[in-house]
Amino acid sequence: MTANLLDFDLEGLAAFCERLGEKRFRATQLFRWIHQKGAADFDQMSDLARSLREKLKGVAHLAALPVLTQHESSDGTIKWLFDVGDGNAVEAVFIPEDDRGTLCVSSQAGCAVGCRFCSTGHQGFSRNLTTGEIVAQLWFTEHFLRRHLKTADRVISNVVMMGMGEPLQNYAALVPALRVMLEDHGYGLSRRRVTVSTSGVVPMMDRLAHDCPVALAVSLHAPNDPLRDNLVPLNRKYPLVELLDACNRYLEHAPRDFITFEYCMLDGVNDAPDHARQLVDLVRRHAGRGVSCKFNLIPFNPFPASGLVRSPHNQVAAFAKILSDAGIVTTVRKTRGDDIDAACGQLAGDVRDRTRVGERIAQQRTVMLKTVKSLADGAEETSKS
Ligand code: SAH
Ligand code: SF4
Repeated sequence: MTANLLDFDLEGLAAFCERLGEKRFRATQLFRWIHQKGAADFDQMSDLARSLREKLKGVAHLAALPVLTQHESSDGTIKWLFDVGDGNAVEAVFIPEDDRGTLCVSSQAGCAVGCRFCSTGHQGFSRNLTTGEIVAQLWFTEHFLRRHLKTADRVISNVVMMGMGEPLQNYAALVPALRVMLEDHGYGLSRRRVTVSTSGVVPMMDRLAHDCPVALAVSLHAPNDPLRDNLVPLNRKYPLVELLDACNRYLEHAPRDFITFEYCMLDGVNDAPDHARQLVDLVRRHAGRGVSCKFNLIPFNPFPASGLVRSPHNQVAAFAKILSDAGIVTTVRKTRGDDIDAACGQLAGDVRDRTRVGERIAQQRTVMLKTVKSLADGAEETSKS
């Protein structure tokens, strides 16, 4: 097995080059070819000596993820479904806006946290993605979009780890991937424009603060422990007080001076005015000094197995007003790419359903074949007798 160069941050690539007897600056050149120019073929890398290119061909490769589907929404949102093997697929979504281009990236195939309102959580956990598989989503989409939009300029200015999976439960692979995004010789994204979203893995929030502080979004979804225990099962391990303490510790290192709290609006579950008032109390009074935060209210993206319903628009507006009136900056997430199900595990859910349909068809075929065979056997018996 040769090394997948998408698995390396610049340090890792330098160490790899040194093991090949090559100077460090070769790693920088190679890194720029891969990430800044999107080269996949060593022969394209014209300023590398032919001898090095030949050497690399024997020991290294670039593993792109096969694209299963690509859907473009009427609003310009593009969603890709990538094959990560063994019947697993992960998605990435590009969301263009006037002043930025955001890529939503997956960190795991499935997710072990099992939030009630999340279709990825309902699928269960398959496996962690490797660094290379996380980076491949950005590598492919950035260079695809440059060709698609016929530009030589950078298209993706922001990355949010809000696709499938809990990034802080795949910490070892996540951190080098973040470094590739931040690296000047790579994608050169600022720390404020790379966001890790977490359901609240407290010890890993502390580690991230030290290892690679980027913007942090915390999926709150409830203002008290009993409700959050029910919606986000990880809360039983790291209850709200511990989570908010961890947010304050993170803020000491964060590139932004606030945490974004995500709150998925579920009709009749967590969307009453009293929930909003409890939230204000929670984030204002915590530890006597509160938590510096903004709220992002997400209209629930429904899927049948959840048994949950999106909060009506006026309910969301009333909820937002209570937070805003208390002086907390609150936005309601625009639903983008609705016509292509470009949110939160929907398409990958479809593929799995299709796989399940496929399995059912296969089972039916087996039954049919058995029936045909037994009929044939019967016919044979009959003809014998
Ligand atoms: N595991 C991480 C990141 C991936 S989920 C996390 O939970 O934060 C990204 C965001 O989408 C989270 O805030 C999550 O709560 C939200 N989300 C998941 N399923 C959703 C759905 N069906 N509708 C709306 N938001 C959803
Ligand atoms: Fe996992 Fe996030 Fe979905 Fe919860 S919301 S199941 S943590 S991906």
